[in-house]
Amino acid sequence: MSEVIAAISTPLMSAGLGVIRISGKNAAEIADRVFRSVSGKKLTEISGYSALYGHVFDKKGDIDEVVALNFRAPHSFTGENAVEISCHGSVYILKRTLAALISAGARLARAGEFTRRSFENGKMDLSAAESVMSLIGAQSELEHSAALSGREGVLFRQIDEIKGELMSLSAHLSAWVDFPDEDVPEVSHDELYSGLNWAQKQLNRLICDFDRGKIMREGIDTVIVGRPNVGKSTFMNLLCGVDRSIVTDVAGTTRDIVEESVSVGGVKLRLQDTAGLHETNDRVEKIGVEMAKHRIETAALVIAVFDGSEPVNMDDLSLIKKLKGRRAIAVINKCDLGLKIDAEVISSVIKDTVVLSAKSGENADKIEQAILSVSGMDGLDPTCAMMTTERQRDCAERAKSALNEAISTLEFGLTFDAVGVMLDDAIAALCELSGERVSDSIVDEVFSTFCVGK
Ligand code: GDP
Repeated sequence: MSEVIAAISTPLMSAGLGVIRISGKNAAEIADRVFRSVSGKKLTEISGYSALYGHVFDKKGDIDEVVALNFRAPHSFTGENAVEISCHGSVYILKRTLAALISAGARLARAGEFTRRSFENGKMDLSAAESVMSLIGAQSELEHSAALSGREGVLFRQIDEIKGELMSLSAHLSAWVDFPDEDVPEVSHDELYSGLNWAQKQLNRLICDFDRGKIMREGIDTVIVGRPNVGKSTFMNLLCGVDRSIVTDVAGTTRDIVEESVSVGGVKLRLQDTAGLHETNDRVEKIGVEMAKHRIETAALVIAVFDGSEPVNMDDLSLIKKLKGRRAIAVINKCDLGLKIDAEVISSVIKDTVVLSAKSGENADKIEQAILSVSGMDGLDPTCAMMTTERQRDCAERAKSALNEAISTLEFGLTFDAVGVMLDDAIAALCELSGERVSDSIVDEVFSTFCVGK
């Protein structure tokens, strides 16, 4: 573990600043071989959390003026001695400085190796390490809050609490089963039952929130449909806050599908605007209409736009019919022109109906609540413990099914030692979730998804 590793931690592109991270017992010694401070001080001589200004150089000469920040174990991200060199964000400078560090004795870090060292040095559990990845990739407010609380160990503590309850039940059971002659108080059926039920409920919530969190991370595949000229493009632009698709008052101009990813009320929507749904003889337009119809079938959420200033027509009715039983929102647009539409016809089929003006922005805030409600995200508290990877979900599922078996065993009136075996299976799955008892191959797999420099 004392081997010194180094990597470029910022993206390989021109930027204001670039950072190279170095970690390992002799990180400061190695950094001192390529860094000369203006004050003459060495990184090995200064304390943690302090910095020196100077230059990095190699055999050919000076590379750049930099700031080198010193960390002393265990007070660093990895828990080891570490140095971070901030230089100008030029790919050439970054690569040349890294090469100088490698020549000076550091080894190129593997993907996720800094975070892996942090995990192996007990700075964070495996689920928190996984949250680091989610944090880097966060694209919406909900996703960011969930990743942040994961990083702070909220999930770990919740798993620990469930595990603690199961361990105390298991310990009591084995003491009672293994030492029948001792004075161990009898295990009550009710106590065991309520403990198992409580743990099962907690796991159920975690699994259910994972599925909701998946929507949060991956976004909802959403399509905007409606007949030509009802204001689909204007509505999409309202959501995106930019003029992304062409808005005109000649019917049928949006022939292709326009895509955009937006965050509404913290929920990520992968949005698609489509050609207007109507009967047409234009060959090119027909293709667009067919594509839009196909998208209605495949999208996870359909936002159907209607022109509120006109009565419902046949095209509208056929769209409403298609959306029966689907996850959908109806937008009754152009409310600024006065409503002539029979909103009942729509809202009797599509529960989440919003009356607004995409052009003036009137009632635009109502769409947020509709999206939260239809996506099942309202009431989701991202600061609560939340699992973020399929690996975690798989462990929780295994723990839950072991608990289910334990409960059925109790109900069938089988022996307590059979219950004990299942309890231990559940505990093992939870230890795997937090990374306390996990094979090297699983740890390898977790960190293989990381980027180099993280
Ligand atoms: P699409 O064919 O469904 O994409 O419709 P567009 O977004 O291109 O809009 C068609 C016309 O309706 C344009 O002239 C828009 O300016 C107008 N429009 C869209 N939304 C509103 C609205 O809320 N109020 C009013 N008054 N006009 C709107």
